[in-house]
Amino acid sequence: MQVRSAVFVTSAADSSGFLKRPIPHFVFAGRSNVGKSSLLNSLLNRKKLAKTSQTPGKTRLVNYFLINDQFFFVDIPGYGYAKVSKQEQEKWGSLIEDYLTETPFIGVIFLLLDIRHDPSVHDRQMIDWLRATGFPFRIILTKADKLSRNKGLQQQRNLAKQLGMSNTDLIVTSSQNGNGMRDVWTFLNQAFEE
Ligand code: GDP
Repeated sequence: MQVRSAVFVTSAADSSGFLKRPIPHFVFAGRSNVGKSSLLNSLLNRKKLAKTSQTPGKTRLVNYFLINDQFFFVDIPGYGYAKVSKQEQEKWGSLIEDYLTETPFIGVIFLLLDIRHDPSVHDRQMIDWLRATGFPFRIILTKADKLSRNKGLQQQRNLAKQLGMSNTDLIVTSSQNGNGMRDVWTFLNQAFEE
């Protein structure tokens, strides 16, 4: 798919601000610092559309980007940053849950995991919740440039096994060198056509 336009539309701090336009929402989720903003910028071929935050955990908003006037990319708040209180974390959890349950047309939810690390408790909670609710979701592994190709493949297999998935369910990406962006778009195109 060719990205002809990509515009930031708005941020929502709670459900009163959620956009209900019935076009596909492709959602990007993951713990703070996993590389979500970088991935969005890389997918859209824009340098600074999604802010790459230097302070993990700072963004507590649902951010909407309208692509080609056809669908949204939605950046939902990173979770599981150790330095925020449990209460704050619960607030984020319910914001994410409200967003997903109140949105009329979820295309796919991409859950981002750093290829170098085992899934955290929060990652697993999110995956269990997605499985239980039946939302369509896909795992994206980020920062693959930080590992050699062999190590990367090994980690892909290892993480797939831990999560009870097949290797191809995990899309390996690097925002730094652009690897895997085409695979994400291929997946998005399929989801869009369904
Ligand atoms: P977010 O908090 O999930 O939005 O994460 P960011 O996109 O802000 O990235 C967090 C940090 O990881 C930043 O210092 C990025 O430069 C770095 N980063 C993100 N993606 C990659 C990647 O693919 N490769 C490498 N080497 N670093 C990355």
